[in-house]
Amino acid sequence: MPEWIEAVRALVEQYGAASSSLSADYYEAERIAAAVTGRFTVPLAEPPPDEQVNNSLRWATKDLWERDPEDPDTTEAQRQPLEIRLQQAEKKAEAVAQKLVADQGRGTVQEAVRQDRQATAWARSAALGACSFCKLLASRGAVYKQDTAKFRSHDGCHCGVVPVFKGQRFELSDHAAEWARIYRDYAAPYPGDQLRRFRQALAEHGHLPAL
Ligand SMILES: [Zn+2]
Repeated sequence: MPEWIEAVRALVEQYGAASSSLSADYYEAERIAAAVTGRFTVPLAEPPPDEQVNNSLRWATKDLWERDPEDPDTTEAQRQPLEIRLQQAEKKAEAVAQKLVADQGRGTVQEAVRQDRQATAWARSAALGACSFCKLLASRGAVYKQDTAKFRSHDGCHCGVVPVFKGQRFELSDHAAEWARIYRDYAAPYPGDQLRRFRQALAEHGHLPAL
């Protein structure tokens, strides 16, 4: 395990640096497109701490180890044959690594917005295939930099951070505007688990996958 974790950590660092640098290029291009004047150097996000990489990978592989099937604490996943447990661990490890890499790119844009005096806010962009949690957050539009809101991602999350500059008004994409409407009509007015209501309403309106 320690050697494997070390190898994955090196990959996370390598691809994470690429993610940060691509995000910095993207930020600069958006800045130019917004006709922002004045110089700004985008600071590149650091790789995640070793402990975070370690914990994520230990979590992803925790069901690999042989457990006593009689032990009441043994989960369904741990009862599966080794081949299945290996497949599951591989899937989880890939999703974990993807998050650790993509978070560096997302962190780079967020930190740039925080430091750049010409930037006012950031917004979350979610793909059509995103989960309802991400669609909900994306439908909220621009988050202003005075706001302490942190970008919340999950394993396998492909959401992006879009910077907003002075003089620009952020507008939701057509699909995010539709998600916002669904939330407003079917979840916001009602008490209880609004994410669950939103997820259900999305599915009823043909917005799949219903995750
Ligand atoms: Zn997402």
